[in-house]
Amino acid sequence: MEPFVYTALPARVVFGAGTLARVADEVRRLGCSRALVLSTPPQEGNARALADRLGVLAAGLFTEAAMHTPTDVTERGLAVARELGTDCLVALGGGSTTGLGKAIALRTDLPQVVIPTTYAGSEATPILGETEGGRKTAQRGPKILPEVVIYDVDLTLTLPPALSVTSGMNAIAHAVEALYAEEANPVISMLAEAGIAAIARALPRIVANPRDPEARSDALYGAWLCGTCLGSVGMALHHKLCHVLGGTFDLPHAETHTVVLPHAAAYNASAAPEAMARVARALGTSQNAPQALFDLARSLGAPTSLREIGMPASGVDEAADLVVASPYWNPRPIERDAIRALLDDAWQGRRPNPGAA
Ligand code: NAD
Repeated sequence: MEPFVYTALPARVVFGAGTLARVADEVRRLGCSRALVLSTPPQEGNARALADRLGVLAAGLFTEAAMHTPTDVTERGLAVARELGTDCLVALGGGSTTGLGKAIALRTDLPQVVIPTTYAGSEATPILGETEGGRKTAQRGPKILPEVVIYDVDLTLTLPPALSVTSGMNAIAHAVEALYAEEANPVISMLAEAGIAAIARALPRIVANPRDPEARSDALYGAWLCGTCLGSVGMALHHKLCHVLGGTFDLPHAETHTVVLPHAAAYNASAAPEAMARVARALGTSQNAPQALFDLARSLGAPTSLREIGMPASGVDEAADLVVASPYWNPRPIERDAIRALLDDAWQGRRPNPGAA
């Protein structure tokens, strides 16, 4: 075995159906009694029900979470948290709500209870991406990592199939990059393979029946594994591309990951053959991994081009410049022409051809 370094992240995870019923116990267990409940505007109803469930342990609500964690929303949430004398944050929702909780925790060191309702995986990472002035920047730190995660499978039954697919592909992307990360290690690679397999198995069943509890359970379990991968090892080209595209063109997060992943994998295929073999094994295919990822997304009806999710054609050059200007570590060197070609393929929605890379 190759030498490796592995750092375990501290987190308490409560997983199952109906686990939301444990939220008050978890708040008390943290020694807290004035929780601020966070959500997006569409999930305000769920947030109110959660605050009712918390009863006297709820200090109030802030329901303005938005995609890509804009700092002006965080400032407003922070003001509410201070006004109410909040002593912990309870974030109910997808990555946007988790991001808001993390952003407030970074500025206050308040403990966080996160109740994820998508497969984004942010709850398992000490990473926060924030957007200010059209640029998204990411940072890591111990204050950012949520203390408690309550995975309640029941809350994911309402996640629309289309978002389930793209959110699941977002999770798979975390695991794919973990397999060829600079800090890759055998423990995380094991989780990555298991996470990809769980989600890839679950998504077709969710599309066929969004309320299939077993499929939902597999997907949420896979999302946790994949999020843990993202939190434990570094990101590479795929996440860099998505951060640039999301921050610059305000593209929807999960859809962007879905479109970009096969192309980022194709770019890295020749430099990371073992990782690609493991991805293919997890997907249960004898095809090459980049094409299998593309075909999986397409077969589930997900978008396959940046064009269809709102990126202007003129953005291809700007994005290529931004990726090359401050790249993340990557197994294959970052070259402007090759990155531009990748972005053009992703913009057009071409099926990737890793042999040609
Ligand atoms: P999201 O949180 O924006 O949710 C998308 C929409 O779906 C929202 O309108 C939300 O209210 C709704 N929704 C969520 N769960 C639902 C459910 N169960 N039923 C019905 N509707 C539901 O989307 P997302 O893809 O989960 O998160 C994207 C954000 O998360 C981005 O800002 C991204 O940068 C961030 N993220 C961060 C990390 C990290 O480690 N820092 C990891 C992944 C994603």
